[in-house]
Amino acid sequence: MPFSKPKGAITVDVDGFWTYLQSYGLDTPDHADPIYQLALPRMAALLSELDIRATFFVLGKDLETSQNQDLIRQLSNAGHEIGSHTYHHYLNFRHLSKEEMEDEIAQTEVAIEKCVGCKPVGIRAPGWNCDETMLQLLEARGYLYDSSVFPSPVIWSMKKVYQSIVRLQGRKTANTPTPFLHGFAPLNPYNPDLNAIWRRGKGRIVELPVSATNILRVPYYSTFYHLLGQRSFDCVDRRYRSTRDYLNFIFHPIDFTDRSECGALGKDLSFPGFSVPWKKKYDYFSELLRALKTRYELTTAEELARSFSGKS
Ligand SMILES: [Zn+2]
Repeated sequence: MPFSKPKGAITVDVDGFWTYLQSYGLDTPDHADPIYQLALPRMAALLSELDIRATFFVLGKDLETSQNQDLIRQLSNAGHEIGSHTYHHYLNFRHLSKEEMEDEIAQTEVAIEKCVGCKPVGIRAPGWNCDETMLQLLEARGYLYDSSVFPSPVIWSMKKVYQSIVRLQGRKTANTPTPFLHGFAPLNPYNPDLNAIWRRGKGRIVELPVSATNILRVPYYSTFYHLLGQRSFDCVDRRYRSTRDYLNFIFHPIDFTDRSECGALGKDLSFPGFSVPWKKKYDYFSELLRALKTRYELTTAEELARSFSGKS
């Protein structure tokens, strides 16, 4: 029998620089955005060099400028999927009213269709802050998949700690913890219960959970390379690749730039790994992507969802 690799996806949350400033309760001046100007082109070049197609979840607000539209269109033309990351990146997304949520989803559909010629079929909520209201809206609007559930209690704890730190600094943040039960959701794609997104049910939509290791459920995505340090992340990486037949690995474009490149904009920002020279991160993530490509058949989240559709 021919050997076939398990499918996996590289998914990128294209958070403009202003979203980080907003998350830290800092002002969001209207400057040229290093995420779009520097980081995205680097990511696109790397993925092209490695012949990997990925999914980019973009913000409707970032598509208000023609320069950003051009970049996202180039990604789409190169075979990458363009998904929705909502319009304004409200980190308290699940606390919005149903009407506000629907507005965020609908406005982003319009912005993406205007940019690349078709509506998104998948979405990732800002900060993984999704709930059943969002799920029901997506189901009604015909979305193929959602990729907002992070099945790791570590994420909930991290957000609790983060919230406390920002408060201690005398600032406010909308970056509220994800629902605790999401930490115990299935680790593989599933059709969710429309009244409890974290468990299997009869929803038509496919939930593509973000990658976490089995048993301990350690989050497996780029920010953990910065948080754990290279040696520990390498252990998580080896563990994941040797035990899991599903991949939904998240990058943020900020992983491909650094503080020294962002001038006054980056002065007050303390995002994990932001002070590490971008070339060092680039080299590490290049090798990681090569390893992931050897282990998994990397495709878009859309194709991943289609291949699991109806199987869970
Ligand atoms: Zn985001």
